Amino acid sequence: MARSEAYEVIVVGGGIGGCFAAATAAANGAEVVQLERKPADQGGFIACGDAIKSPTDPKGYPGPIDMAGITSDEAVLANGNIDKIEWWDEELGVRKVLPYDSHSNVIDRYEFGQRLLEQTGDLGVTQHFNTVVNGIIQNGQVQGVEAIRDGEPVEYTGEMVIDGAGAQSVIQDMVAFEELAVEPESTFEKPHYTHFGSAYREIIETDEPVDYKNAIVGKPLEEMGYVWYFPRSPTSINVGLGFQMNKEPIALADRLREDVEDRPEFENASIADRFDKKNKLGAALALRRPLDSMVAPGYITVGCAAGTTHPITGKGIRGAAFSGYSAGKTAAAAVADGDVSEQRLWEHNHYLYVEHGEASKLAARDAYNVAASSIDIPVLRAVAAILPEDEIREIVSTKTSFDDLASKLSIAAGATKNLISHYRKGTFDHLGVSKEMLYEALMGFRTTREFVDRYEEHYENYPASREGYFEWLTERDRIDDEFYDAIDLEPEARKYQ
Ligand SMILES: Cc1cc2nc3c(=O)[nH]c(=O)nc-3n(C[C@H](O)[C@H](O)[C@H](O)COP(=O)(O)OP(=O)(O)OC[C@H]3O[C@@H](n4cnc5c(N)ncnc54)[C@H](O)[C@@H]3O)c2cc1C
Repeated sequence: MARSEAYEVIVVGGGIGGCFAAATAAANGAEVVQLERKPADQGGFIACGDAIKSPTDPKGYPGPIDMAGITSDEAVLANGNIDKIEWWDEELGVRKVLPYDSHSNVIDRYEFGQRLLEQTGDLGVTQHFNTVVNGIIQNGQVQGVEAIRDGEPVEYTGEMVIDGAGAQSVIQDMVAFEELAVEPESTFEKPHYTHFGSAYREIIETDEPVDYKNAIVGKPLEEMGYVWYFPRSPTSINVGLGFQMNKEPIALADRLREDVEDRPEFENASIADRFDKKNKLGAALALRRPLDSMVAPGYITVGCAAGTTHPITGKGIRGAAFSGYSAGKTAAAAVADGDVSEQRLWEHNHYLYVEHGEASKLAARDAYNVAASSIDIPVLRAVAAILPEDEIREIVSTKTSFDDLASKLSIAAGATKNLISHYRKGTFDHLGVSKEMLYEALMGFRTTREFVDRYEEHYENYPASREGYFEWLTERDRIDDEFYDAIDLEPEARKYQ
């Protein structure tokens, strides 16, 4: 018979989302337990590119965790000098350098994760490591979880559960959402596996300093995805790659070897060790828009499990932190009110989509992802080659959109100028990309941008309560249909959007 333990809030996961959620809920007066399947000394050992927007960024981080303190800790801050993003398509002779003014850092993800867990514990959270959650307790609402802790079964009961179990969360597989549904239906819909990416990274030590020591570097893959080189120091580079699971799988480790083996800077390089083994890790990550609703009775989801993260635009860690904070605050208040209904927990959705607003921006810019996924990779590479730097920055960032006509025109003029120059040089000949294909793709992106603006406006009007949700969703789905028609998205590709 399993031992039973009772808390108010049960947080599954010792990652960023889980730590921010647990710490915030505890700081707001809830009795919290955090469950993590790894042993305590391996918490935070997570596959990551390690690039993080600096907490000295004026926007900062929310909640009781001292992110500025953690990330300025010598052991955590590996490289605080990143001031450029570079895009290399070496086959096309492209090396685009974009100044990066968003105070980016490369951190040691393990040390960072350890500090995060320590602070979470110091804020009054009970932490159980070596604890694998493998079942759900529910009765009209989620009421707890079943787990194996140090080999023994334990039942954790509580008022509610926060799911910070990461991409492709097993918790979402176990909760029977349809049984929790309140009229007319549950607002929570489990994401499809094609909404995730698969990524892998190694830490490589080189003999000599690399010449891109202050830049985060991206390069195209033959599928929708990219290779990165993120220098932790001039001689220690986080190299990795990832692709979205709506495409054919790539043998990630082999493909990375293929990429690095001919590069002069990696000649004689070795892979760093950690825990007496080679420092190589892979994992899934969320790459699509955040979930339309992240709550159900007695249940809130955060981070990669909620799709509030977007590593490609530097919002992987940040998106998990903000959603964790929101969940912790909402959970503590709901438990204090004695009401963990979907309606009461709605404040989590509303905070992320409207008050903080970053989820709206991520959701709107997901249209670029949908559009790009429908374009052949050679054409996409050619588009990246001709787009002016400002345009690329607009696509990869979630900054204010370029909605004034003047900048739109100058971007179009810039793309045309670059197009002519690339054609004169014959750089696209061997890709088999014609001018017509390129124009079509560019027009597709122009159309997409108009839809990005429409989506953003719609998401900014995300309903303040569950009541307005279904009407809002119907209109969002209508925008989806119009967008997919406008970019001629194949019926097969529409299925799981
Ligand atoms: C290869 C790779 C590179 C990336 N690069 C970057 C980058 O450079 N910059 C950036 O900002 N973001 C990056 N990301 C994304 C970033 O890592 C995620 O957005 C972030 O880690 C999400 O945090 P999370 O808390 O939601 O999930 P996670 O960090 O995945 O944490 C989930 C935790 O839950 C635990 N868990 C899961 N299931 C159970 C269970 N059943 N029982 C108990 N515990 C469980 C796991 O052990 C884990 O500790 C990258 C991701 C990958 C995979």
